[in-house]
Amino acid sequence: MQITIREALDQARRDIDDIDARMLLQHVLDVGHAHLIAHPARRLTARQAQSFRLLVARRVLGEPVAYLIGKREFYSLSFTVTPAVLIPRPETELLVDLSLERIPIDFSCRVLDLGTGSGAVALAIAKHRPLACITAVDISADAVAIAKINAAQLNARNVRIFEGDWFRELGEERFDLIVSNPPYVAQGDPHLGQGDLRYEPDSALAAGRGGLECIESIVACAPAHLAWKGVLLLEHGYDQAQACRELLSKAGLGGVFSLPDFAGIPRVSGGCLEV
Ligand code: GLN
Repeated sequence: MQITIREALDQARRDIDDIDARMLLQHVLDVGHAHLIAHPARRLTARQAQSFRLLVARRVLGEPVAYLIGKREFYSLSFTVTPAVLIPRPETELLVDLSLERIPIDFSCRVLDLGTGSGAVALAIAKHRPLACITAVDISADAVAIAKINAAQLNARNVRIFEGDWFRELGEERFDLIVSNPPYVAQGDPHLGQGDLRYEPDSALAAGRGGLECIESIVACAPAHLAWKGVLLLEHGYDQAQACRELLSKAGLGGVFSLPDFAGIPRVSGGCLEV
């Protein structure tokens, strides 16, 4: 006789976090959290028990839960994720909040998301601002494919997604808002060898010049792609706010600011094209 939901969770919890065990079991059984609570005595089939054991074993070795189950929630939306894209982070919701504050709900506005990855930021914006026209680019063809899958799953019709190296494919186009969560971890940072980051694409995480290389490129080119009064918003590392503000000011942007995430860490900096 196969094990019950309660037994499966109890066993798994010896080796992995409680929440991870629940997420993996929900995935195997294709049920929500409430089902696990309501039916602790339900028995798994042999195949389900086997799949669950395998996922727990992979988790023990370090694979991120999001990759094991192929999805992650961000801004209350479900995103398909694979190892081709960064796993959306809760702190990145700040970038969406600040974007939505700057996009009117009742008329059209042009938004660009650079290095979109899974499309999390672009699509969260798109779903909350249906009149906005969102452009999302990523240098990775695999990431673009995932972002397109997510756009289709979320039925986001106001987003175009294509391959591109930052602004290179955008000609002389200008935008009212440019957002980016670029790679900003310093190459060689020991965090890259720890936890989930080991499994995520290095190209989405790490950048040269102490992590500032991509931010520098984006800031330098942004004024040529911002409309008058257009805003650039960038996520960055915990210790990069001042460097970012200096880059934004040097590029001629005005009203330069940094704002903290829910952990109180300066996480997003921005500026506005005023001249
Ligand atoms: N915030 C991520 C981390 O440090 C990095 C994301 C990024 O480089 N854009 O795990």
